[in-house]
Amino acid sequence: MNYQLSVPQVLEQAYLQSPEKEVIFDGYKRVTYEELYQSVQLMASALASKGIQKGDRVLVCLPNWHEFVTIYFGLAQIGAILVPCNTRYMKEELQFILENSGAKAIFLAEEYGHFEFLKPILNKDGNFQHIFTVRFKDPECTSYEELLELGKKSEPPQVEIDSIEDVFSILYTSGTTGHPKGAMLTHKNFVHTATVSAECMNCTSNDVFLIAVPVFHCFGMIPGILTAIVVGGKMVFMEEFKAEKALTLIEQEKISVHHGVPTMFILELNHPSFKQFDLSSLRTGIIAAAPCPEEIVRKIRTIMGCDIVVSYGMTESSTTLTITGFEDDDFLRSETVGKAAPGAEVKIVDNNRVELSPGVVGEIAAKSFGIMKGYFNSPEKTAEALDQDGWYYTGDLGTLDENGYLRIIGRKKEMIIRGGFNIYPREIEEILYKHESVLEVAIVGLPDTVLGEITCAAIRLKPGKTEDQYSMKTYLKDKVADFKIPDHFIFVEKLPVTASGKIKKIALEQELKETLKP
Ligand code: ATP
Ligand code: MG
Repeated sequence: MNYQLSVPQVLEQAYLQSPEKEVIFDGYKRVTYEELYQSVQLMASALASKGIQKGDRVLVCLPNWHEFVTIYFGLAQIGAILVPCNTRYMKEELQFILENSGAKAIFLAEEYGHFEFLKPILNKDGNFQHIFTVRFKDPECTSYEELLELGKKSEPPQVEIDSIEDVFSILYTSGTTGHPKGAMLTHKNFVHTATVSAECMNCTSNDVFLIAVPVFHCFGMIPGILTAIVVGGKMVFMEEFKAEKALTLIEQEKISVHHGVPTMFILELNHPSFKQFDLSSLRTGIIAAAPCPEEIVRKIRTIMGCDIVVSYGMTESSTTLTITGFEDDDFLRSETVGKAAPGAEVKIVDNNRVELSPGVVGEIAAKSFGIMKGYFNSPEKTAEALDQDGWYYTGDLGTLDENGYLRIIGRKKEMIIRGGFNIYPREIEEILYKHESVLEVAIVGLPDTVLGEITCAAIRLKPGKTEDQYSMKTYLKDKVADFKIPDHFIFVEKLPVTASGKIKKIALEQELKETLKP
């Protein structure tokens, strides 16, 4: 496999190898490599004739539709920058990304309600000049189909791409710990990480990838779409995850690589008709984004017959930084996130960024060909996150063992210091998640005049369950040291979440400060 190619060259290579082969099925259309490659050429020339040039940012706010892939490679071919947006973004969030990225154009679907508020600001101020509509039409905008028609009138421009220097995508982080930050990822960041992911899973052109994670997230864009293309495989998109639909697709399309977050696998394993599906085509896949209980890893491997690997990474590292191997047992695949992936180095450092010994908790730092160039338009944040030697400081806390396996402890910003003792909320949250009444929980620190900080657990109970402070404290009593037991338990109807579903602790902290005011 060649790490040096640019993103469009990866597609060209796969297309030349097997033009007739099917590359995408999205439930709506089946597309071959030939069709994809040709539509990418048309898209590239159409975008160029609309004035989109190398370095211009183009927002793409679409669900898992095949059109996303044409736009992805069309933009790559002309050196323009793809800025994917979560379809669930509300007005303010989308507006923030539009302004922050200085985008010239956006591709939109109708169903998410974005068109109504974007249309009035088109051509008003800033750089925003085009709305391209996908699977719907508007008299004042150009549709996806019209772009493909327009593309027939000229040849795609020849644009030189420097894989190492040229940014292919600005991917906004989930915004769990503050405003989303735009990570600038180069062609090389993408191709390297997609290739490494393919190698770690022994992927070949026979593989069929189930892509149920959103294509607008780095997980869908890199180990999903690009890995499938790197090996010349096929991908099956799901617009919305439903366990029964996923199981049907696995059987029908003979899925071999199943990526997902733990919840997807849990829902599939618990589906009442699970046993009726033939899942024998499943081979492997990546599970990431959240810790996965050992029991689930074991069931995915034994009952589903899917030799799933666990990976850890973030937007800034183009995903995979560490990954478990096929030789690792269920315990290592649930307790750790594996070892540094090929081409990556991982270390644990203290507050002065000095490397710590195995077993000691500190910040996880990493170096790899997947690490971003920096944050877009944000030299201060870039300087905080990246040092002179190319190390990226993740803001996550973890430990490395003697054999190089990484354990995630939690986020640095979330660590609470209560009366001089460090508390890692995630440790307690994981125990509370095992309580039969708990649906969702988040623990945050609140200021306290005596202890510096005290802890508060906000819990959303399962329907029909009742609990109180006393019952929760009793539950934790023999499970953790007393200083780790939250000082307060608050029962809530819902927790504030980001568009990708992660709990926003800063917003929660604000809410709880108000609630607990004396
Ligand atoms: P922001 O940076 O805007 O606050 P975010 O960090 O949630 O948001 P992402 O880049 O989508 O945005 O998420 C990366 C983070 O997800 C990692 O830094 C880590 O905290 C968590 N994570 C990723 N993979 C795993 C995993 N396998 N196990 C546990 N946590 C993980
Ligand atoms: Mg982050």
